[in-house]
Amino acid sequence: MSLLTEGVSPSCKSLICNGLCAVSSPLLRSISSPVVVLAKLMMDDDVQKKSGIYPYVLDGDERHLNIRAFSNNMKREAYERQQGVCVKCEKQFRLEAMEGDHIKPWHEGGKTNAENCQMLCKPCNRRKGGD
Ligand SMILES: [Zn+2]
Repeated sequence: MSLLTEGVSPSCKSLICNGLCAVSSPLLRSISSPVVVLAKLMMDDDVQKKSGIYPYVLDGDERHLNIRAFSNNMKREAYERQQGVCVKCEKQFRLEAMEGDHIKPWHEGGKTNAENCQMLCKPCNRRKGGD
């Protein structure tokens, strides 16, 4: 084995790995099981930009992944359930003045579906930040 390939696993034929074994980032190597993390992201329907998975794993910024937004139907369902009242400030708003929010944050395993959707008024959603 030459010096160049040392440390790289030449035996990895996993499709999921996709040559990741060869990535030399210390941060990536410090993650307990990057392949499991990546596989999970690859299979996650909420991740709309699969090409953003590597950058996401490197810096943890969810914006790389273009996480699926709630559909109008999901938002309307949540809006009606809440009777138009913002969960945070408890004031009433028009549907157009509100935004869908993950009840359980996506990065904690919350899905982008009607059950995990709550409506916040825009100022409250902004204040909450990073969803
Ligand atoms: Zn509010």
